[in-house]
Amino acid sequence: MNRNINETELRELRGLVDEGHICLDEPMSKHTTFRIGGPAEVFMNPTLEELQSVLAFCKEREIPVTIVGNGSNLLVSDDGISGVVIKIGSNMAGIEVSGHEIYAEAGAMLAAVARTAEKHNLAGMEFASGIPGSLGGGCIMNAGAYGGELKDILTEITVITKDGEVQTIPAAEAGLEYRHSRFMESGEIVIAAKMLLTDGVEEEIREKSRGFNQSRREKQPLNFPSAGSTFKRPEGNFAGKLIEDSGLKGYQVGGAQVSEKHCGFVVNVDKATAKDVYQLITDVQRIVKEKYDVELQPEVRFLGDF
Ligand SMILES: Cc1cc2nc3c(=O)[nH]c(=O)nc-3n(C[C@H](O)[C@H](O)[C@H](O)COP(=O)(O)OP(=O)(O)OC[C@H]3O[C@@H](n4cnc5c(N)ncnc54)[C@H](O)[C@@H]3O)c2cc1C
Repeated sequence: MNRNINETELRELRGLVDEGHICLDEPMSKHTTFRIGGPAEVFMNPTLEELQSVLAFCKEREIPVTIVGNGSNLLVSDDGISGVVIKIGSNMAGIEVSGHEIYAEAGAMLAAVARTAEKHNLAGMEFASGIPGSLGGGCIMNAGAYGGELKDILTEITVITKDGEVQTIPAAEAGLEYRHSRFMESGEIVIAAKMLLTDGVEEEIREKSRGFNQSRREKQPLNFPSAGSTFKRPEGNFAGKLIEDSGLKGYQVGGAQVSEKHCGFVVNVDKATAKDVYQLITDVQRIVKEKYDVELQPEVRFLGDF
């Protein structure tokens, strides 16, 4: 990790946020579901106002900024991340319901938004109730499961642009596709989103969510740290099936393993490093390409140097 922030800048940064919202050399392994990742030079969990002042400050001083949500789709380098890492999390997590609409800040967890919907007899978000990410991360990834995706329910997304401007855009303009959004290229930061749901019955919504989550427990290796599906679904196929058919079930590099329960997941079975996971991903891609001529694309996002 290259040092980017000098003492004076650090003092100024500290002045912009509540004392409890900022720390130095924070292990990213504490903020990723993989439980992997070296230190963030400066780590913060800001309020919206703090976020805006920090972004303006970092832009002016040319300090690199990295945005994370709940870290459930991340592989962070063992060398960590230089500059400021901003977690859009618990200090930006408000949820409001109005009629069939839910407006939530990006740090709200998808599960919490789904639970709120359920309590208000609003159907349509059950698919997301077991996805362990934030709403912001969900918008970036167009998270989805069991035949639903955020694209189906999002109506508006509020972002901070590269110029620091707050803009609300129609979800139809967010370029939401399978595990992709325009934000991946634009670098816009999602701060809130509005969803439109339909009339439902609380008990039925709960049952549907329970069913999905039961299926997750049966099929997914939730007993080990992971970042969910490691690869995107290739056209007309399944990554897990191709990996299994390539004889890679249980294939291990260091502490990283192709899950024995579900080959689409790479799991951290024994203090895996980011390097282990990266090497394993590269090996799997090479072997599947050799055997089936399919190029598996990672769904997991890499942060820091590899
Ligand atoms: C056990 C398990 C099961 C999973 N199941 C599913 C599933 O069924 N379906 C599915 O789609 N995914 C699944 N995932 C993956 C993951 O939960 C989703 O991709 C989720 O949407 C990521 O949200 P996050 O808040 O954790 O984002 P992070 O992982 O923190 O970040 C993901 C990306 O978004 C960026 N980002 C995050 N927040 C913001 C923001 N507010 N503004 C700008 N950029 C931001 C980050 O820089 C990164 O590039 C699963 C993961 C695990 C561990």
